[in-house]
Amino acid sequence: MTPEDLKTGKYGKIISLLIDVGLLSDAQVEYALRVRSKIKTEKPLLEIIKELNYLSETQIRETLRENSLCMRIGDFLMELGLIGKKDLELALKLQAEEVPKRKLGEVLVAHNLIEERKLISVLSIQLGFPFIEPDFLKTNPELFNRGSVVQYLEHNFIPVRLEGDKVLVAFADPMDPRDVDAATKAMHQPVIPALSTKPSIKAAINHLRSDKKFGEYISSETGESVVDIVNAIIVDAIDAADVSDIHIDPLADRLRVRYRLDGVLVQHQEYPMSIAQALSTRIKVLCKADIAEKRRHQGGRIMFDHDGYQMDIRVSFYATVKGEKIVLRLLNRQTELLDIDQIGMARRVMHRFREDALDRPSGVILITGPTGSGKTTTVYSCINQLNTMEASIITAEDPVEYVIDGIGQCSIDPKINLTFEDSLKHIVRQDPDVIVIGEIRDTFSAEIAVQAALTGHKVLTTFHTEDSIGGLLRLLNMDIDAFLISSTVVCVVAQRLLRRICSRCAQPYELTPLDLLRIGCEPHHLEGATFSKGRGCSHCRYTGYHKRVAAFELLVLNDEVRDGLIQRKTSHQIRHICTQTTGLVTLFEDGLYKAARGITTIEEIMRCLPRFQKPRPIGELERLLGK
Ligand SMILES: [Zn+2]
Repeated sequence: MTPEDLKTGKYGKIISLLIDVGLLSDAQVEYALRVRSKIKTEKPLLEIIKELNYLSETQIRETLRENSLCMRIGDFLMELGLIGKKDLELALKLQAEEVPKRKLGEVLVAHNLIEERKLISVLSIQLGFPFIEPDFLKTNPELFNRGSVVQYLEHNFIPVRLEGDKVLVAFADPMDPRDVDAATKAMHQPVIPALSTKPSIKAAINHLRSDKKFGEYISSETGESVVDIVNAIIVDAIDAADVSDIHIDPLADRLRVRYRLDGVLVQHQEYPMSIAQALSTRIKVLCKADIAEKRRHQGGRIMFDHDGYQMDIRVSFYATVKGEKIVLRLLNRQTELLDIDQIGMARRVMHRFREDALDRPSGVILITGPTGSGKTTTVYSCINQLNTMEASIITAEDPVEYVIDGIGQCSIDPKINLTFEDSLKHIVRQDPDVIVIGEIRDTFSAEIAVQAALTGHKVLTTFHTEDSIGGLLRLLNMDIDAFLISSTVVCVVAQRLLRRICSRCAQPYELTPLDLLRIGCEPHHLEGATFSKGRGCSHCRYTGYHKRVAAFELLVLNDEVRDGLIQRKTSHQIRHICTQTTGLVTLFEDGLYKAARGITTIEEIMRCLPRFQKPRPIGELERLLGK
């Protein structure tokens, strides 16, 4: 490509940029063009490039974010393939007729040519503003009280949280200086503008305005009654998205509160021992435990109302020599709905998962792993991916953790006799295309899954096993016919969550001979790898880690594996068949590859991943996983 072409944007500005930064080659683009002319499609070139697996959605998004392109929103949407040329022409024509003229984006949304959410997220790419959903779970009530509701509604913004000495504010239009001015004045502090949709800003404002509980919570910042403290401990945990448990431990001279964050306990707060008694009593009242009892273990449950959402919390009091140790487990943690490409599956693996499993019309897709391995997130991403106008999706979950529009979700509730068994019996009569069974817990649910797949349904479900092969063998041990399993299960995905190295304090790390021994690798097997480790900083609470990333093992059943199952081969033999014939990359290998790319550490993969065989060299893993 000549510099001249770059200027004129022969392939469009986005593709030119991708070539420029070295993610695409001219040869690839030329090939994509040939493909497009062969299959005679109107598809945007960028779509074809994605389908050819030259680039992922994430790579494109990140490149665009890092290099702000100067182009008109209409062209931008068209190149990304979000609107067609005809839609754009129509919108421009409609816009021209309007008095007063609205922005092109608003016209597109008003005429249903693009979804507002999609437009907003693209705008955030183009304009570089972070896109956020100011769900009231995360907005700071103190900040909210600084301004007036009238102002918020007039200028379409809402303060979200403090970031350093600035306030992150969600705007419907962060480009409008009047709105940004109004926010800066109201907050008495500089603001970081972020982008959001008008309806969700409005919903958040209305919610905070009407929520009286917040009134109490604010006063706690000066008043500090025990009621407030307990509320704050719980609310803070709910707000910090990755907290699963709260530990309240009596120490010799003080009370320590820790959160289990990303799977590991971290310090949250300390309180004087003098409030221990009152604090424990307050929690007992909340969970209807015996207030008078202090020397025996007890349990209870709290349904904690927080911003229109009921958090189910299981409480355990354990009598220790220093007093009661209290653990609160947040049960129905709302998981984040991730795009399927964001769940962290390697590029080639994701391609196979979609091609050979998700896009198949029928069959059982099993997601397996222990509690807290991120299965739910994966299942919801799959549902989200399958949720189209043509598909009827129905679920039986215990409980529903994320409500997705357009899906028939059922939350199991034995208290009102809405049992798992009963729901499964009825689910098939709902004429579904996709059935989601929260979990295979017994032979009955396994049979339902297999039967549904036999009758042409796509079934998504989860399982508790160590790895993918273990999942198949567990099914066999549930008295399900090996032939039925081998003819219905299309794939098994095993997964684990690994802590991700904090990007702010990551530094290169040289493996020691001991590390090599532990992972079972020869030094020359690790050619091309760059390991890292977090030094620890305030951003990651000095743990060196921030957030998590999943490691996956995808087993797509082929004829060899099916034969192996029917012949009742041992797990060792089946594992051998899988790695030899299906291109299976084990959990440990996927983790090792992630460590070799500086995403997680050797310690994390040793701590979290099962190891059945020596990992293959990095070069080979790269070939199997895709860069
Ligand atoms: Zn850090």
